[in-house]
Amino acid sequence: MLFEVSPQNKVTIKHITYTCIVRSEITTVHYYKNLQNWMNGSVLSPLAKCLPQLLNENFHTTRWGDLPLWLDCLDNLPNIVGHPINLDSEVQIGNASQLVIPRDEFQKILMKLHPWRKGPFSLFGIEIDSEWRSNLKWDRIADHIHSLENRLVLDVGCGNGYQCWRMLGAGAERVIGIDPSVKFVCQFLALKHFTEDNLPIDVLPIGIQDLPTNLHAFDSVFSMGVLYHRKSPLEHLQQLYNLLRPGGQIVLETLIVEGSNRYSIVPQGRYAKMRNVWFIPSVKTLISWLSRVGFIGVRLVDVSITSNGEQRKTNWMRYQSLEDFIMTDGSGRTLEGYPPPTRGVFIAEVPSQRSK
Ligand code: SAH
Repeated sequence: MLFEVSPQNKVTIKHITYTCIVRSEITTVHYYKNLQNWMNGSVLSPLAKCLPQLLNENFHTTRWGDLPLWLDCLDNLPNIVGHPINLDSEVQIGNASQLVIPRDEFQKILMKLHPWRKGPFSLFGIEIDSEWRSNLKWDRIADHIHSLENRLVLDVGCGNGYQCWRMLGAGAERVIGIDPSVKFVCQFLALKHFTEDNLPIDVLPIGIQDLPTNLHAFDSVFSMGVLYHRKSPLEHLQQLYNLLRPGGQIVLETLIVEGSNRYSIVPQGRYAKMRNVWFIPSVKTLISWLSRVGFIGVRLVDVSITSNGEQRKTNWMRYQSLEDFIMTDGSGRTLEGYPPPTRGVFIAEVPSQRSK
């Protein structure tokens, strides 16, 4: 194990200076060795160049004080080989009989990465019952998207990568997820630990703003549950457009409200107790935004009101959940009085002849 000690990791408690030891770039980079090799000389070579530095910045205790605990979790996972991986109708890795350490010990390690917001995952017989039943979202989009066979796919704001696994299961040639929240990335790495190193699926601890601009590289780009967290929605849509190759497809899932063209709400204060919700557009408004940045063939393929069956508190996510964010009068409105949380799925393409 390689360690790095740097001056900023010194802490003083009661006049005694302790040196916190954090793992350096050298150890976190190994999670991405295969991806890095693949990216060199590919359409993603600009990302290959800046990735080591991004990893060094984002896998860091100055940003994530508990990072050493999460990395310890990854180190303590058992090594198991020769188990099946099923990504067709669920995300299932291994069977209970193949687990080589006691079940409750394994569960304890995984629980150190609480809260598990996205899932569910079945891992050597442990059913990780996450807050969101993300499989329902996948079911709403899967039939509407371009086949992922042989496609290079990017999932922006992928959380712990649940949908990335489903995309790989749907035949994608390679899936790259990005999410700035390092605990969720560690959840992904915990699952990836039980696969071959060269399985073409990775989740990077970075935000969309960290990607090199104008990559024009991906065949399909997904942005699900992210747009309303961005202060500048048009800029987000433009970034997605610029990540796609000519003819590439965007799949955008976000909160919507009823209303005419040009209508959107900007919640004052919180929305369903979330602090970071900026724009919730009407369907027509979002279609016009997508068209404005250059997408063609923009269509709405699904609308659904989020239910307690899809988002709820579980043993794997013990904080508050949807039922605590919604009025109890049966109206379904948020505690702040906004319309019931409703999500739309939009699909569109970049023209084959991209205009500058
Ligand atoms: N796409 C998943 C998760 C949505 S939750 C799904 O649909 O189930 C929203 C995610 O967006 C969070 O995990 C959050 O960390 C991530 N996110 C927030 N800001 C982001 C940014 N600037 N770039 C990429 N992801 C971001």
